[in-house]
Amino acid sequence: MGILDLDLFSRALRLRWLWYQWTDPDRPWVGTEPPVDKIDKQLFRASTTVTLGDGQIASFWQSTWLDGKAPMDLYPNLFRLAWRKNKTVKEELENLNWTRGLWRMGSVDEMAQFVELWDYTLNIHLTDQADQIKWNWTANGEYSSKSAYLAQFHGSYSTFKTEHIWKAETEVKHKFFAWLLIQSRILTADNLLLRGCPCNPVCIMCDQEMETADHLILQCSFARQVWQELAVWTGGLIYIPEAGVHLLDWWEKELKQLPKKIRKLKASVMIYGAWNIWKARNRRVFDHQVLTHVEVFQEVKSEMDCRRLACGGLEISFLNV
Ligand SMILES: [Zn+2]
Repeated sequence: MGILDLDLFSRALRLRWLWYQWTDPDRPWVGTEPPVDKIDKQLFRASTTVTLGDGQIASFWQSTWLDGKAPMDLYPNLFRLAWRKNKTVKEELENLNWTRGLWRMGSVDEMAQFVELWDYTLNIHLTDQADQIKWNWTANGEYSSKSAYLAQFHGSYSTFKTEHIWKAETEVKHKFFAWLLIQSRILTADNLLLRGCPCNPVCIMCDQEMETADHLILQCSFARQVWQELAVWTGGLIYIPEAGVHLLDWWEKELKQLPKKIRKLKASVMIYGAWNIWKARNRRVFDHQVLTHVEVFQEVKSEMDCRRLACGGLEISFLNV
């Protein structure tokens, strides 16, 4: 394991506040806001599975009661619009309270998400039992600080080094996208079909292959043109992904043995690249809007410029010296 990473270890310790909120609600401080940040909460969601009972503890938007995931992660656009973000499942099911604010939906994508979540909520049957939470990383289903620490290195589905994600110079939403992407958990056609959602299984960008995360982001001819542009722009820091490589191997190999600053920068370009390919795919599926690979590349560039102006960090020209 090597040297203890104190940042990651303190994050692991902070998650216990979120755990106690569930398992030890009589602690005097429960009910006040625990000292955790957005990433702590994301990691907590990725680390827990909630089973609904009476719906009185689980948060409608923020607890992982929907097939082990939280509605806020599955339906981020709806979550953004929702007026009440901290209410329990029970409170939100009453009078369809969860739909408050969602009338502001503006796109077909959002409406499709709404219909899907609507169907899920119709299948909820609350009982007299208390809601249950399970910690995903231990055999007994209980939180431990060690497993919370290790979880940051070893995702449930893989062993990728997530600290490269959390430390990349991107916004939180990009980081979480990358965390899901590298575990192939974004909602591409293969995952939708697994969940029983009817959809077109063929990649809309090339119309050639089954749409999987590996294909869409790395292997698709469209994606490869975007990576080609990024390769030129970064003076060879980024490569066109190897044929047949999987997301996890790609992520790990590309970031191996780089000096820290370069690694952070490269991780950011990889995340912004993947994110914008995914966005271009969604625009084509939901808004019938077709972006060229050059336009997608320009989006990556301008997002990275915005980020750098706002928060500092390396510039790509740094590499060309
Ligand atoms: Zn394709």
